[in-house]
Amino acid sequence: MDRRNVLKTFGGAAFGGALLSGVAGAKRENHIVPGGPWVTENEPRKVEAFRDYEELVSDLEKVARTSAREFSLESVGTSNRGRDIHLARVGSGDTDVMFVTQQHGNEPHGTEAALSMLQYLSSGSGEADDLLDEVTVNVIPRANPDGSEPDLFQRYNVDPDAPARDTEEGFFTSFDAGVGWDVNRYHWPDWTESTLYQNRPDEYPENPVPEAQAVVDAVAEVDPLWVVDVHNQGTYVTDDGRMITTSLYWPIAEGVPADAQDLSKQLVRHAYDHVSRFGYAEASQYPGGTYPGIARNSYGLQGYGSVLVEIRGGVDQKSNGKLSRLALEIMASVVDGTADESVFEVDPDDAEEIPERGDYYDRELPPE
Ligand SMILES: [Zn+2]
Repeated sequence: MDRRNVLKTFGGAAFGGALLSGVAGAKRENHIVPGGPWVTENEPRKVEAFRDYEELVSDLEKVARTSAREFSLESVGTSNRGRDIHLARVGSGDTDVMFVTQQHGNEPHGTEAALSMLQYLSSGSGEADDLLDEVTVNVIPRANPDGSEPDLFQRYNVDPDAPARDTEEGFFTSFDAGVGWDVNRYHWPDWTESTLYQNRPDEYPENPVPEAQAVVDAVAEVDPLWVVDVHNQGTYVTDDGRMITTSLYWPIAEGVPADAQDLSKQLVRHAYDHVSRFGYAEASQYPGGTYPGIARNSYGLQGYGSVLVEIRGGVDQKSNGKLSRLALEIMASVVDGTADESVFEVDPDDAEEIPERGDYYDRELPPE
């Protein structure tokens, strides 16, 4: 298959021609380029710009109905409020790959990108078909459907029984009791190894976070080559004042097998090289930790390629289209690079050369 052609089509199908238009016209404002956009103080939040649960399910079912390729949609778990957690699967390639999005309810762009990707892959276009002869793409879009609802739009899942935060004890929860759990701290293939079980085996004989357990079980069932977990982060800035729009990272927990870590680094560098061609994308290395219950570390420890993707977020509906496109470019690039095997030619050490993330940018600070 013609690699460049696939890339072009994969991106172009969803993106139209607006990709390169972002930065050139941006003006300096508060020493960051581009200088926004931001949600201003008096502006209403419009998180309904993102699909709510009903819209997500309806769109997934529509793709399943109309797909020109092998497509399955199943529930792999249920949230505390009774919402299905979906696994969509498209293609017939021997190599399974897997995406997880929106473990944190207020981090929506990966889900929007996942829908665009599934729509494209199922479209029956020749290029999509070529990809799906090589890889089968699995997606858990919106792992945390309760926290994602517009009236909450919160990081945590929803659990009135969740205690207040105490990470030493294993409670990666909201600072307030009764809100919910941080889904991305509970990816334990063996629950008895978890911090919480180690401290409170009688109270928590099983994983109390159904959304995380659903992902753990689905990954074990699918047994993919890699897992890519898509999030949003705040706004960060490079040393020379450019806005960072994405950060990427690989598993670094103690005991991650070298081959899984190398594959993860190859995926990161491949995605970095791809998006760095676009003027609007400023990519960097995410300063992630070693906690084994985080998806990135957990799936690395289990021998999978494992990548964390962070897209600029925290700006509600602002830049929705552009940020979702950036997530889609990253997701598309790793599928493409796996299908044509170019990702395996990347030198894993080159991932270390990706610039580190830089400083958090608070637009309220007066310029120095
Ligand atoms: Zn997150």
